[in-house]
Amino acid sequence: MNKPKIWLSSPHMGTREQEFVREAFDTNWIAPLGPHVDGFEQDLAQFVGLGHAAALSSGTAAIHLALVMLGVGPGDYVLCQSFTFSGSANPIAYLGATPVFIDSEKQSWNMCPAALEQALEELKQQGKSVKAIIPVHLYGMPARMHEILALAQQYGVPVVEDAAEALGSTYEGKACGSFGEIAILSFNGNKIITTSGGGALVSNNEEWVRKARFLSTQARDQAPHYQHSQIGYNYRMSNVCAGIGRGQMLVLPERVQQRRANHSYYENALADLPGVTFLPEPAGSFSNRWLTCIQVDPTLSGGVTREHIRLRLEQDNIESRPLWKPMHLQPIFESAPFYGDGSSEHLFEQGLCLPSGSNLSTADLERVVHHIRATFSAR
Ligand SMILES: *Cc1c(COP(=O)(O)O)cnc(C)c1O
Repeated sequence: MNKPKIWLSSPHMGTREQEFVREAFDTNWIAPLGPHVDGFEQDLAQFVGLGHAAALSSGTAAIHLALVMLGVGPGDYVLCQSFTFSGSANPIAYLGATPVFIDSEKQSWNMCPAALEQALEELKQQGKSVKAIIPVHLYGMPARMHEILALAQQYGVPVVEDAAEALGSTYEGKACGSFGEIAILSFNGNKIITTSGGGALVSNNEEWVRKARFLSTQARDQAPHYQHSQIGYNYRMSNVCAGIGRGQMLVLPERVQQRRANHSYYENALADLPGVTFLPEPAGSFSNRWLTCIQVDPTLSGGVTREHIRLRLEQDNIESRPLWKPMHLQPIFESAPFYGDGSSEHLFEQGLCLPSGSNLSTADLERVVHHIRATFSAR
């Protein structure tokens, strides 16, 4: 294990982040808020093409606040894509509501409109209170927003768009994060850009964004003393983190190109391997290719599984990871209702995320490809 580690997706700073952070130090805008928070919020709103953004401590916090603002509570139901990271779904549980998990479809790997429709119809028949739909643009690939938004409108349910992995992706020419009533972003360390940890809530609804800022700073009423008439949260982003974010925004387009180049590299280098497939970009979708994922079908690959590949990479100090394990298969959500045909479970069983950082060198990519190909020739 003396080979240098190749990470799945590690932070990649540009050239200006330290300048912004130094400015925060020089002006003693270390905490809590400050001009970088305002600047970062403007950068985000402009990039996504929406009116307003609230910079927060994480993407999970942003989903939590979005659901609080939509009035989600005990007895309510929230429809959430099953094939996602737990941060999408945990806030439903924080609020004592019931998550209903919706399976994926094959074209985008994201929320299946047919399964969503079935869930909406059945819950309506049962007279349940459905408060939100959470579609996710997983690995940067846009979900089928056209159909999802039509169903949301038909059933009168707001959409909270989880664009945590999709900053820089577009769908029918518009930025991911611009479709839902509210959208959330994440700047966790493994995302396409990072503030070391952070997130944002974006919306065209100024009132909601203002309310998110209010709730994220302990819901303080206007008064000289501390006065609270509703429950607040400590979820605001600091001015130092926002400074990193402003620097990262300057290199975001470049990061998208670098991630997409990784994907092309892997596709060219691995496409001839039997049973190995990539997720193509459907017409009208542009993915930031945050992570490059492969599917390995052992009935076509001569018995090679994604696990054989993962273990071989691990032996050479290369990090890879199975695709996200669907939420309806997680012990924490065992009893939650699920609608679907098993597509996401199949993706999880056969899928592997390859090292995809924008800071990978050609030598790194060659090393990964070498081991994947060697897994096949060894059998
Ligand atoms: C990372 C992520 C989140 C949560 O973001 P954090 O900033 O880590 O809290 C939510 N949803 C998805 C799909 C994510 O990938």
